Amino acid sequence: MTQDQLRQYLEFYQDLGVKTLFRRDAAQPAGVATQATAVAAESSTGSQPLQAPSLPALEPAGDTLLKIIEDIGDCNRCRLHEGRNKLVFGSGSDQAKLVFVGEGPGADEDEQGLPFVGRAGQLLTQMIEGTARKEGIPLQRPDVYICNVVKCRPPENRTPQPDEMEICGQFLYRQLQAIRPKAICALGSTAAKALLGTKEGVTRLRGKWQKWRDIPVMVTYHPSYLLRPYNQNAKKEAWDDLKKVLHFVYD
Ligand code: URA
Repeated sequence: MTQDQLRQYLEFYQDLGVKTLFRRDAAQPAGVATQATAVAAESSTGSQPLQAPSLPALEPAGDTLLKIIEDIGDCNRCRLHEGRNKLVFGSGSDQAKLVFVGEGPGADEDEQGLPFVGRAGQLLTQMIEGTARKEGIPLQRPDVYICNVVKCRPPENRTPQPDEMEICGQFLYRQLQAIRPKAICALGSTAAKALLGTKEGVTRLRGKWQKWRDIPVMVTYHPSYLLRPYNQNAKKEAWDDLKKVLHFVYD
């Protein structure tokens, strides 16, 4: 790998909001340097780069959702595959003008292999279709695209860990690049962190446009948060956020 390739590779992860890179403890074949040492060796000696472990393509030309699913395959890149029933890639239109990004599958999603099909999913559907109807926008859930930061259910629905987000992040990146929606709606703080690389909470981020690469991003509350009885005030804010997004995308 050349220095330029390494720079591009690191920029790719930086765009995903990943600031720290983790290295697996996989055994290196004898004589094969790590990426960092390969580049260091190359730059200090000016000789041919040493062989580095193969890396995911940055952004394959003509990428499609089908190709991405094929590349994910029967994924075992991180520990989340161990407890998985079904991998949850995403659902909706590959031509969608609007993409919703959640955190990761829950029990119902893991069972069906589809995102947002449990209680939080029903609320999300109501939010999308109900708001669209009230605003006079002809829009059904299948018209948008819905996916998650991680594609496999974290045990006990815990928050995905940074290395799991990083490993799965390459596929979220490719999904967003393949669809290239007019806007993205980040549901909750994990999606906000994955897309914007920020530690700011939803309360501070919501309601104002942010950017993922050059695509406008609206952060709003995760539907699971809105299901809790003590968070009812947030519901109105989430509806306001969604109204803003729908008018921006579909007017
Ligand atoms: N919560 C999420 O973040 N994603 C789902 O798919 C379901 C619940």
